[in-house]
Amino acid sequence: MAERVALVTGGNGGIGTEICRQLGQSGYRVITTCLDAEKENLAGWQAELSAEGVDAAYVECDVADFASCERMARQVEEAHGPVDVLVNVAGITKDTFLHKMDAEAWNAVINVNLNSVFNVTRQFVAGMRERGFGRVINISSVNGQTGQFGQANYSAAKAGMHGFTMALAKEGARKGVTVNTVSPGYIATSMTAAMPDDVREAIVGQVPAGRMGEPGEIARVVRFLAADDSGYITGANIPVNGGLFCSF
Ligand code: NDP
Repeated sequence: MAERVALVTGGNGGIGTEICRQLGQSGYRVITTCLDAEKENLAGWQAELSAEGVDAAYVECDVADFASCERMARQVEEAHGPVDVLVNVAGITKDTFLHKMDAEAWNAVINVNLNSVFNVTRQFVAGMRERGFGRVINISSVNGQTGQFGQANYSAAKAGMHGFTMALAKEGARKGVTVNTVSPGYIATSMTAAMPDDVREAIVGQVPAGRMGEPGEIARVVRFLAADDSGYITGANIPVNGGLFCSF
């Protein structure tokens, strides 16, 4: 396979790093977006992956900002060529019950988790259609399927990703562009480490698998969906939640 280029938003986070690692090990050049490369030590991130043989790069971008995404796309394509695989991973939480939620917490979570998917995908989808190949993989959440206390903003954003996925899947299907969603359950990263211990333990107690998931368990599904021979899977949502929520 000629080296394909994969762009992963939030590729320096807990789940994102593992996605970059596994795509890199599968022969993709991987590029992550990040808000502030120096603050987040992206040089260290790149060195760690490079030491493992992964061709990794980074570019600064605020995925909540359309103009920033336009600039990022130009930079990426000039430096690395066209993007074949886009994984929308960047996300934040600002949890509180709705009767206490302010507009800032609502808008920030919708902007970073949902509007970002438009802001970034919009930059690359025309090129994917023209070249007759593309993979868009959106990282949603089990809480976008079930809702969760204190997460009206996050649940709404993550549920919205499914509508986006299904619509764009239809638009891309004849052009070789597949669009799918992966919905993780509770995965051991800094996002879940930030939860109060008693809340996290109560949730893990409800997981039939009896444990949290590992980032690699999400990354393996992404790698599968990104593969050239996964072209007939589109508009799908793949839950990876240890049995926490079962649906068909
Ligand atoms: P992390 O907090 O480790 O990673 C989040 C990433 O998002 C970071 O790389 C961060 O970049 C990036 N990011 C946040 N805001 C912006 C922004 N405005 N512009 C660009 N990048 C931004 O979280 P996880 O790895 O745990 O989560 C990754 C994804 O998986 C999220 O979408 C999350 O909602 C989803 N998910 C996670 C679950 C879990 O249990 N962990 C469960 C279900 C879904 P930076 O470092 O530069 O700030």
